[in-house]
Amino acid sequence: MSFSNLGLSDKVLAAVAATGYTTPTPIQEQAIPHVLSRRDVLGIAQTGTGKTAAFVLPMLTILEKGRARARMPRTLILEPTRELAAQVKENFDRYGVGQKLNVALLIGGVSFGDQDSKLTRGVDVLIATPGRLLDHTERGGLLLTGVELLVIDEADRMLDMGFIPDIERICKLVPFTRQTLFFTATMPPEIRRITEAFLHNPQKVEVSKPATTAVNITQLQVPSGREAHQKREVLRRLLRDAKDLKNAIIFCNRKRDVAIVHKSLQKHGFSVGALHGDMDQSARTAALDQFRKGELPLLVASDVAARGLDIPEVSHVFNFDVPHHSDDYVHRIGRTGRAGRTGTAISIVSPPDQKSVAAIEKLIGQSIPTIEGDYEVQEASRDDEARERRPRDGSRRSSRGKTPREREPREAREREPREREPREREPRPAAASPRAAQPAAARPAPTARTDQPRHEQQPRSEQRRPRRDHDNEPADHSHLPAFLLRPVRAPLP
Ligand code: AMP
Repeated sequence: MSFSNLGLSDKVLAAVAATGYTTPTPIQEQAIPHVLSRRDVLGIAQTGTGKTAAFVLPMLTILEKGRARARMPRTLILEPTRELAAQVKENFDRYGVGQKLNVALLIGGVSFGDQDSKLTRGVDVLIATPGRLLDHTERGGLLLTGVELLVIDEADRMLDMGFIPDIERICKLVPFTRQTLFFTATMPPEIRRITEAFLHNPQKVEVSKPATTAVNITQLQVPSGREAHQKREVLRRLLRDAKDLKNAIIFCNRKRDVAIVHKSLQKHGFSVGALHGDMDQSARTAALDQFRKGELPLLVASDVAARGLDIPEVSHVFNFDVPHHSDDYVHRIGRTGRAGRTGTAISIVSPPDQKSVAAIEKLIGQSIPTIEGDYEVQEASRDDEARERRPRDGSRRSSRGKTPREREPREAREREPREREPREREPRPAAASPRAAQPAAARPAPTARTDQPRHEQQPRSEQRRPRRDHDNEPADHSHLPAFLLRPVRAPLP
């Protein structure tokens, strides 16, 4: 099967040929003809299968006819994160070279005013995260009544991030007669309900069973002690020993750990970037660009920031933490072994992680073998870690050998991400933050946006909504003294 059999236009075929792709992937082969015949499509496919081109290529063909009107986009693509939205835009830029299409991105963290003026000029393809899109519609700057084709991508991720109510609202704002393309890697009941409500007689296209992992990924686990310093040492050993390691993404469950692991690896001489939801957009983009270009071969990332990233040829994925949700495991390791290439995914498993590993093995229907070699770190070998943890300011440790932070209740320090997700974070004075000395790439975004003109600040409606875009990650309370984290009883009136 070649691309020319799928019904794509000559311009699109020329653009595909220019990228060097000769054969459509299974999802492309199955989905493209249905999209071109204007059927609704329910695509069950993971990232890494070529699903983006499966909707971008036929959309470009369809959009060759017709023109955009001011504030009324012709097509709309919803993505759960800014990075994914930006990647889809890159796909339009790559495959749409021969066409004069207006493609606009509506994502958080970018000037509202610029986005608005782009909408005024008329948009053929609008790529948006749900929150920012609704902000524009609420302000009256955007009408969705001209949308002929709606794409809902990474729907199960949208569910994880609490976007389903937004998706339902958006589906009601676009015309009933539109064509809908819906992509998800898994099919939990909530997603099934949405597809039944908003798709009309969809053509189901499934390229692999839900929640299966690609066969070309070698999956391994390595045991570790439960302490973070032991896991960091195991990680370093794995990185030093890894065969054929070209580049790797290292996943942590909490964004705070992303920053710690990033800093630790830097200290140990690794070239490494970081990606988590607290970083501002330009720092995220810079880290990602450096990783893509190979300037930084390692990237420490959280799930939210790294979901669905199109980074070709990642040779290794490391789970510094085993994800608590098995679906996240499937998504994480899907960063390697993309488009038929081989890859390796290694999970560092401490005793409390064993339950999560069992759940993952059940979901993927296979057991994850333990890596051969002595990687486990014994308690004794923690010299360099002790050095790493010593406070830089020379402050004295208490008689019990612990800094005040280490004496924080364990529970407060290690609460799981989905339990601690206060939506809004208070601005904190830069000098008070122990992370002020971090490299720009790992520094959190200025959440109060006081550095932006008022009209460009985060709209209030976006602040109100729960768990949006990058903010389903736990808030970082590491700058707070421990006593502020303790629950307090409110006085009776
Ligand atoms: P996606 O699933 O859309 O994230 O795509 C995964 C990767 O596959 C991206 O790096 C694409 O550029 C690449 N890709 C898409 N289509 C093809 C194709 N037909 N042949 C080879 N690679 C492809």
